[in-house]
Amino acid sequence: MSTGKVTILGCGSAKPTRTTSPSGQWVELCDKSFLVDCGEGVLLTMQKLGLHTGRLYNIFISHLHGDHCFGLIGLLTTLGMLKRTQPMHIYAQPDLEKLLTPLLEYHANDRQYDIIFHHINPRKHEVIFEDRTVSVETIPLKHGVPTCGFLFKETHRVQKEDGSFEREARKRYAYCSDTMYSEKIVPIIEGVDTLYHESTFLESMAERSKEVKHSTAADAATIAQKANAGKLILGHYSARVEDHNLFLQEAKPIFDNTVLAEENLVFEL
Ligand SMILES: [Zn+2]
Ligand SMILES: [Zn+2]
Repeated sequence: MSTGKVTILGCGSAKPTRTTSPSGQWVELCDKSFLVDCGEGVLLTMQKLGLHTGRLYNIFISHLHGDHCFGLIGLLTTLGMLKRTQPMHIYAQPDLEKLLTPLLEYHANDRQYDIIFHHINPRKHEVIFEDRTVSVETIPLKHGVPTCGFLFKETHRVQKEDGSFEREARKRYAYCSDTMYSEKIVPIIEGVDTLYHESTFLESMAERSKEVKHSTAADAATIAQKANAGKLILGHYSARVEDHNLFLQEAKPIFDNTVLAEENLVFEL
């Protein structure tokens, strides 16, 4: 039976607030767990929710702004203290390895497990992870620094009439943060069951949104509508907007099946 869910570990933008910490999601597909982005505070939320790092083997980092990777060094050193022996795979652009290596040498040199960096090209749409039942593809995004989202697919091998096998995608989840409005992603995410799209700003801040290459709630909803997504989850909220319902009010007239990410919430995929 297919299973899938995403747990929101952080859904704020760069500045942590009373109710939101920076980005992080725990994605479960086919009984496997994946961490997407690791902002400050992600480890703490994982522990509060009882999510077991022993089940985590793959981490995907969208880009190198601090609110998406500052939690990594804490997580990786803690795994050392927990006496982890299984390798951890990190999928990110090459600079992350350069940045983390001296910190790991200083803080976690006695760890008993290997960290394997897989270098990704955020400008290219390609498969970066594949096993028997799950594949992950990059989604090139438009942001101030090289950034990509991730498309998770639950896949199954099906036998064709001629006896050969092909892979068939079932459940699909797209994570698109951070990005400004970009219709280029629509063909890649066409028909996804669930789309998480950043919604940093409200319409009244649209100018600012373009300047800093982020999206408004209406941008996110328009992308969801153009891509025929099943459901839209909004997140990556600006610290300046305390009432997240305002994002919902602006998105729903464009794409009705929109929900708000909040920390600790679990969405079925
Ligand atoms: Zn961000
Ligand atoms: Zn960013």
